[in-house]
Amino acid sequence: MTDTKLQTPKYALKNGELLPWNDAVLHIGSEAVNRGLSVFEGIKGYWRVDGEFGLLALRKHYDRLCRSARLLHIPFETSFDEFEAQVLTLTHALLQPGADLWLRATLFVVEGHWGENTRADFFMTAYQCSQELSSPVSLGISTWQRSSDNSVSYRIKSASNYQVGRLARIEGRTSGYDDMILLNQWGRVAEATGAAILLVRDGRVLTPDHSEGALESITVDIVEALACSLNVPFERRPIDRTELHIAQEIGLCGTLAELISGHSFCTVPLNQDVTTLKTLHDAFFDIVRGRRDLPQVEITSLRP
Ligand code: PMP
Repeated sequence: MTDTKLQTPKYALKNGELLPWNDAVLHIGSEAVNRGLSVFEGIKGYWRVDGEFGLLALRKHYDRLCRSARLLHIPFETSFDEFEAQVLTLTHALLQPGADLWLRATLFVVEGHWGENTRADFFMTAYQCSQELSSPVSLGISTWQRSSDNSVSYRIKSASNYQVGRLARIEGRTSGYDDMILLNQWGRVAEATGAAILLVRDGRVLTPDHSEGALESITVDIVEALACSLNVPFERRPIDRTELHIAQEIGLCGTLAELISGHSFCTVPLNQDVTTLKTLHDAFFDIVRGRRDLPQVEITSLRP
């Protein structure tokens, strides 16, 4: 996984205006600071073999941001065209040869006590990412539970939704795992701390339905389309905890995680040879690097 946390890029965008990094700040009186009220998207851009730079699934990220904002009653007036223009402005400002980009588009609520007259500022930041492929990770099961649709719904990509994932990561570090799988209120598989979960059983790729506690993942949709194009069976269904213990492969899937396989689950080694997830991983990179097209995958290209 790419580590973006220590970077201080030159610029950030606030309500469409390009600002020096140090000027992109929130007031301590804002709702975002006091109550952790914000919704966001993480977007990935890749250098492609033809020399262009391709941003993945902008429309889907915009649509999910609109859904998150709507579910938390945060007004968001930016149109898709404006959103896309902002992404391109920041990409042009920060793009460097040889480094991919991870952009974060966040609506931080700045006014609106208890939901009265809510107003948000729209910030965009972007961080350089290495093009190196991620190494396989060790996975465990967290004792923390994924929130349900009736609390802070897993469907909302809000800052507050990551508090449980943070606790699970801390728990994982203490137990020696790179990442943790969270179960839902029924004890079935929900997702990882910052990615969806894929399992392989007898050549079939399985992932939990959204209503099992999984964010509506854009990368999972892409992987499903890839699996379909490669005739790899792909199924969304409830997944029992014990299925994790008998799966041949387990992987993480998300914008930043891309497709990382697990080398072990609860300390038991997993298959690392030529595998179904490796096939999907390679196909995913063929698409994002521009070696192959798939009509379902939308890429916004720019020539720097
Ligand atoms: N679940 C969680 C909790 C996540 O943070 C992410 C990453 N955004 C995902 C799933 C995967 O979603 P996507 O493929 O849209 O990035």
